Amino acid sequence: MPRYGVIMKLPIIVVHGGATVFEKKYHEGILAAMKDAAVRGMCALENGGSPLDAVETAIWVLEETDLFTAGRGASKNRDGEIEVDAVIMDGNRLESGAVMAVHDIIHPISLARYVLERTSNFQIVGSGADKLYEQMLAENYREETISMRTERPQISRECDTVGAVAVDETGRIASASSTSGWPGKLPGRVGDSPIVGAGVYANDIAGVSCTGKGEQILRITMGRMAVFHVEQGLSVKQAANTVMAELRQKTSGEAGLILVDNQGNVAMKFDTPHMPVSILSQEMDEPYFAIRPSWP
Ligand code: ASP
Repeated sequence: MPRYGVIMKLPIIVVHGGATVFEKKYHEGILAAMKDAAVRGMCALENGGSPLDAVETAIWVLEETDLFTAGRGASKNRDGEIEVDAVIMDGNRLESGAVMAVHDIIHPISLARYVLERTSNFQIVGSGADKLYEQMLAENYREETISMRTERPQISRECDTVGAVAVDETGRIASASSTSGWPGKLPGRVGDSPIVGAGVYANDIAGVSCTGKGEQILRITMGRMAVFHVEQGLSVKQAANTVMAELRQKTSGEAGLILVDNQGNVAMKFDTPHMPVSILSQEMDEPYFAIRPSWP
């Protein structure tokens, strides 16, 4: 186990499974998925992949389970349809790819990556994103995953988002998230998760992935503010505390975030009962993972 609170050796990957409440009977499966996501994200980095590869991989792993309100576990909107959102951001290029309200695909994170890498745009929504998915498959950019959703009851009692931040050995940062948003949401509703500066942000100083009530997170552009505070000299822990305090003071709260700087310092904060997290860095033999993490 690493010495917490010290600089973690790069590369590093930090993954979250949403600020929410999970029923106890699912905790074991959730923890196994979190651990797997961190291990496979780190594997991408160790095999010469970029931080973008690492966060896409980690999120893909979580989307592939039916344990989170994302990917196979996506919840339906008011009209009984599935619409999902995802974003991926490259901190050094300050470039991102996002898809919003895309219909019923399992891995929107890969479509977001496609937007980043293969288009000159950053955000594609609705039917445009649906068409782009077909184009992505036709180009063999990523393979289609068999879409077999389970009819399992919703596992998180509210909603949750999966997210990740990775930093490679040179300090390059990427962050990402994927969600289906709130169960029963209005068709077309988009929360904070795929919005750069709200649910996710990364630059050359730090990267963040937020989760929780999107309409509240948007009000304070939580992701950008967290990174801004690090740029201004706060530690990641101080920055995470500052944005969570602001969220509580100015909105009804209920959120969480993971924040990582270019040295591999990690902070996390949440005001919900659970926020599964896993962390794996070069110096750790095993990932740290917990449903209700306590990280200094
Ligand atoms: N932030 C997500 C949304 O509002 C939900 C979550 O993170 O739980 O869509």
